Amino acid sequence: MSSSMFRKKSRANVRSHRAQWFAKAGTPQLTRCPNPACGAVKPRQVVCPECGQYRGRQVLRPRNRG
Ligand SMILES: [Zn+2]
Repeated sequence: MSSSMFRKKSRANVRSHRAQWFAKAGTPQLTRCPNPACGAVKPRQVVCPECGQYRGRQVLRPRNRG
């Protein structure tokens, strides 16, 4: 019956959904490295490039300073 109206609504919905998705995917949340000895700012869910730790685990070899 009012299919055109529904379409409009759903279209707007998709748009907002997409915007949210893009916002989520496009702007990684920055967080501070949990390693107290490091404290580098890095995107979430990414191994810290400075100390090589991720969620308290040593994943990569730490970067040598100097
Ligand atoms: Zn770190």
